[in-house]
Amino acid sequence: MTLDTQWALRWIENCRKVIHENRDYLIDLDRAIGDGDHGENMDRGFTAVVEALGTTETTDIASALKLVAKTLLSTVGGAAGPLYGTAYLRAAGKCTKPELEATDVVELIEAALGGIQARGKATTGEKTMVDAWAAALEAAKSAADSGKPAAEVLVAVAEAARSGAEATLEMKATKGRASYLGERSIGHLDPGAVSSAIIFEQAVAAVKVS
Ligand code: ADP
Ligand code: MG
Repeated sequence: MTLDTQWALRWIENCRKVIHENRDYLIDLDRAIGDGDHGENMDRGFTAVVEALGTTETTDIASALKLVAKTLLSTVGGAAGPLYGTAYLRAAGKCTKPELEATDVVELIEAALGGIQARGKATTGEKTMVDAWAAALEAAKSAADSGKPAAEVLVAVAEAARSGAEATLEMKATKGRASYLGERSIGHLDPGAVSSAIIFEQAVAAVKVS
């Protein structure tokens, strides 16, 4: 049940698999309020990440997350590439221990969200991935404050990220490509918020098999 390097590697592999399974779904979401490339971008990115992991020795969580950051930055493109790249890079910067504890999970998410907001300048309620990440951070803080172990903090985080993504349905986009649609963006889920929820859910799935 520990969040160690093996967990991080399983998490990344799970992301590749489940993002691939959701490729068409994410494309459809992005087609409704964007340009329809989000599923393809993310699938290409995580496939490249797993390929890179196969040729690079990763002995700690920080180097695994750094590799994810570098690879997503160079392969995903669009808005999501730099946003996810910065998120993973900032999170990697906070990984100094061989295993993450509850407070580390909070710190990592906080740093990642800080990176996403430094890049994209979005706040909550603007119908972006920030809505999933901010909900995730809130949940991480309250779960860690109530003394839950790291793996349980992650469960709360994933549930909150999914709720945060679902909450984008009723929002009007004011950042990113979807903002061009104005009112017409209402009634659609934000693709980046949904891919963020998937990524958090896979962090939980990677714990369960251990
Ligand atoms: P593009 O919009 O360039 O085609 P993608 O389709 O890969 O890029 O990614 C779109 C996602 O990026 C959106 O669904 C949203 O979650 C996220 N996004 C776009 N702009 C911003 C921003 N300024 N801040 C945070 N997230 C953003
Ligand atoms: Mg797009």
